[in-house]
Amino acid sequence: GKILVSGVTGFIAAWVADRLLHKGYSVRGTVRSKEKGAKLAETFKERGFGADKFEYVVVKDIAEKGAFDEAVKGVDAIEHVASPYHVEADDPQDLIAPAVNGTVGILESALKYAPTVKRVVITSSCAAVRHEDTKPILFTEEDWNEQSILIVEKEGRAAPNIIKYRASKTLAEKAAWKFMENHKDEISWDLVAINPPFVFGPMTHPVASRADLNTSTSDFLSIAISADAKGHTKEQLATQGSSWIDVRDLGEAHALALEKAEAGGQRIIVSVEAFVWQDWRDIASCFTFIPGGCTGAGKSLVHLIQYDTSKAERIFGLKYRTMGETARDVWEDYNIKGLVG
Ligand code: NDP
Repeated sequence: GKILVSGVTGFIAAWVADRLLHKGYSVRGTVRSKEKGAKLAETFKERGFGADKFEYVVVKDIAEKGAFDEAVKGVDAIEHVASPYHVEADDPQDLIAPAVNGTVGILESALKYAPTVKRVVITSSCAAVRHEDTKPILFTEEDWNEQSILIVEKEGRAAPNIIKYRASKTLAEKAAWKFMENHKDEISWDLVAINPPFVFGPMTHPVASRADLNTSTSDFLSIAISADAKGHTKEQLATQGSSWIDVRDLGEAHALALEKAEAGGQRIIVSVEAFVWQDWRDIASCFTFIPGGCTGAGKSLVHLIQYDTSKAERIFGLKYRTMGETARDVWEDYNIKGLVG
């Protein structure tokens, strides 16, 4: 079958495409410019996936009405990954409009022009699940981050930038499920939402310099594997963190989300475990210049936010890469690309 992958030149989407190609699917990726598309096509060609397996179409702005009308034609399934992921928006709508309109737009285009589509997978986020609290919480797929939406409604531009991003992801996923409900009698597909936490790992798309890095990769480089830890104090490194998954495993989960019947109609949290930044630095100190103690360093055990990952285990049954594997592969990849030092 042929799968549409939106934003295919992004960190995660390029791995989604890579996994799909290796499984034998054909991929049509949407890109913002011909130049970017041609570069990625060249990369895939070098791996043995020529124009008969990987093609790209230009969708300059996913927020525009009808942006995906042409792109969806004739595909069997959709992986909607494109969405702005940064924490630099002043106006929250800079994030919310493309996130929501892009998601609703791709569904509208599929409804109008792609009766062949059997499943749509959207890359949501743990940002659409978790909220901030002072007590430890184990979040499940039942949870929705209403908190970020309320803060943005109340504070607008003054809301913290990370909250604006989280609100955009929550509103986009909500809009997708609402679309499904509103059109349930007309549509040929079912929907799956994948909810990952922080995504780290090597890059499979062409990256020329640090300026090209996506937000999570950039954080990993500057906090986990740089000498100055982006100015974080010992105390901050030992207490601040999140949860994580390797981008290659996330790509695999996106592919499985197309294949597993039980995934239909589900939101699915895919996460390996919680971390604090010092955990990564301890591991990285085994094979980098990062100071620490390479003693098979113990990991922090106290985390405010944890995720119940039993649904992903049941449906996907993936064996996730460990921190050690991911850190080592990232280190190698960033060195090859000249990003460290
Ligand atoms: P990237 O920034 O690498 O990918 C984002 C992609 O979306 C890029 O291809 C980008 O194109 C495209 N895009 C953004 N806005 C628009 C727009 N208005 N019109 C057309 N294309 C657009 O980041 P990631 O790969 O990390 O993010 C991919 C998805 O994963 C996002 O939905 C993000 O919210 C989600 N996610 C990411 C996590 C992470 O830790 N990385 C964690 C959880 C979820 P271009 O680069 O050309 O601008």
